[in-house]
Amino acid sequence: MNLGIYGFGPSHRRQWLAVDLGVSFAGPEIPGIDLIMPDVRFLEKERERIVGLVLTHGHEDHVGALVDLWPKLGCPVYTTPFTAALAEARRLGEPGAPKIPLHVVPSGGRIQLGPFEVEFVPVAHSIPDSHALALRTSLGLVVHTGDWKIDATPVVGNVTDPARFTALGDEGVRAVICDSTNAIRDGDSPSEADVAVELTKIIAGAKNRVAVTTFASNVARIRSVAEAAHAAGREVVLVGRAMERVVMVAREQGLLNGVPPFRPVDAYGYLPRDKVVAILTGSQGEPRAAMARIADDDHPEIALSPGDTVIFSSRTIPGNERAVNRIINALVLDGVEVVTDRTALIHVSGHPRRGEMERMYGWLRPQVAVPVHGEPLHLSEHAALARRMGVQQVVRLVDGDLVRLASSDASLGADVVEELPVGRLYKDGQVLVDSADRAIQERRRLSFAGIVSVAVAMSGKGELVGDPMIDLSGLPAYDARGKDIGEVIEEAVLDCLDALPKARRRDPDAVSESLTRAVRGAVNAVWGKKPLCHVLVITV
Ligand SMILES: [Zn+2]
Ligand SMILES: [Zn+2]
Repeated sequence: MNLGIYGFGPSHRRQWLAVDLGVSFAGPEIPGIDLIMPDVRFLEKERERIVGLVLTHGHEDHVGALVDLWPKLGCPVYTTPFTAALAEARRLGEPGAPKIPLHVVPSGGRIQLGPFEVEFVPVAHSIPDSHALALRTSLGLVVHTGDWKIDATPVVGNVTDPARFTALGDEGVRAVICDSTNAIRDGDSPSEADVAVELTKIIAGAKNRVAVTTFASNVARIRSVAEAAHAAGREVVLVGRAMERVVMVAREQGLLNGVPPFRPVDAYGYLPRDKVVAILTGSQGEPRAAMARIADDDHPEIALSPGDTVIFSSRTIPGNERAVNRIINALVLDGVEVVTDRTALIHVSGHPRRGEMERMYGWLRPQVAVPVHGEPLHLSEHAALARRMGVQQVVRLVDGDLVRLASSDASLGADVVEELPVGRLYKDGQVLVDSADRAIQERRRLSFAGIVSVAVAMSGKGELVGDPMIDLSGLPAYDARGKDIGEVIEEAVLDCLDALPKARRRDPDAVSESLTRAVRGAVNAVWGKKPLCHVLVITV
C-alpha cells in the first residue's frame, strides 16, 4: 500500500507532494477485511499544503486507495494517460465513487507543482505506462524510481532508457528512492518477450482447451497470449470483470493494436476444444474470481475437461500459496494439465534484480540512496547493494520516518529527522475503520471461541422472573463427556444467581458482570476455551 510524500521548505510552511495511494490485500488473519490502506491522518491535517498527488502507474498497490482516500485529501491528481484511463474506469465501476480531478500528463512530460518540478520518466514494468519521477527543487534532483525493471523487449509499454537515466546522473542526482522487491535475486530478469516465446510453444502444442490465468493489469501478457492463440488458430475469450476493464482501456489506448477482437464469454461453450484460449482472472486463488470458480465447477460459462491445459502465467504472492495450491490440486484431480512458473518460463517479475539495480545505480550515481518497496530483508539487501555501488549515504527507514534528503545547510547529511503518525485503515464492507477498531478484534475472537448470549428478567426485588434464555453460536454442542453445553451454561447461570447476595441482584450491572464471569468460567472448565459472552438483564 504505497504512499510516499515529499516535503520542501521549513517545517512551519512546508509544501507536500504525495506519490501514489495504494492498497494491500488482507488474509484470513483479518476476518471480513479485503483491503488495507494507509492511514492518511497526517496528510489530512496538512491538506492545505499538498500541491498534488502523482501516480506512477496503475497497479493496485499504488492507486487502489484513490477512490476511498482521495476525499480526505482533496488535492489535484496527476498521472499519465493509461494510468488515468484505468483509474477512471475503476472509479466508474464503483457506484457512488467521488469525481476525482485527474490531470493527464504525457509520458516524458514535466509539470511544476509548487516547489517541485515533476518529470515522468518512462520505465519498463509489468503494467503499461509506468514511470519513475525526476523531482527537481532548488536543492537538487531526487529520483523516485517507482516500480521498474530493465526489459528491452517488453511486448507492450515503456522501456527503461539507459540514455535518459544516464543524463539524469550527469545532471547530478542528490538521492534515489528505489524499488527493493527483487533485491535478493542475482542477475537480470528475463524479458517479457521470452515469456511470449514459451507461451507460444505451449499453446501451439496443446491438444484441447487452454486457459491462461494472469494478473488482469498485465497487458503485455494478455497480448502475448492473444498472439500465441492467433498463431495456433485459436480464438480468445476473456473471463473476469477486471480483465475486461483493463482490455477495454488498453484497446482505447492503442496497446492492443493488431490483436484480433476477443470473443464474448458465451462463445466458449460452442467453440471447438482445440480452437479456444480463455484468459482468466484469479491467478492468486481469489475465491470469487474465475479460476477458483472453474476449479470448483461453479462457473456459469466456463468448464474444463480432462486433457485441457491451465497455465498459471503469474507468481503466487506470499500468503496466497494455500489458495493457489488448492485450485491447482483440484484441477490436477480433474485430469487437467497444469503449467506453472516452477516448470516453464511463463512469468517474469516486473521488478529489478540485483544486476538491473546495479546498472541503475551506475547510471544515476546518487549521493544518497533510500531503499523502499520491499520487506525488511529486501530493504537491507538493497542497502548493502547501494553501499557496494559506492553510494555515500544509505538511509534505512521504517513506515512514517521523515528523511532529510537535502538541506540548504550543506553540512547536514541525509538522515531520519522525524517520525510522522502512520497506521492502517481497513475497508470493512463499505466503511473505513482503524486497524485497532474493536470490531476486528471481536471478530477474530469470535472466529475461534464463539459467543454465548444470556438474557435474564429480574424483578425489582432481585428475583429471577421466568427461565433464563440462552443462545450459543460457534460452540460445540456437547462437552467431552457428552453433556449438552447449553445445560452447563444454564446451571452456571442459576447457580451464580443463587449465590449472589440480594443487594447485588437488584443491580443489573452487577448481575451482568457476575453472569459473564460465571458463564465464561463454566464453559472454560468443560471446553478449555472462553467464548465471548453477552448478558442482557431486563428489569421487570
Ligand atoms: Zn507495480
Ligand atoms: Zn508496487
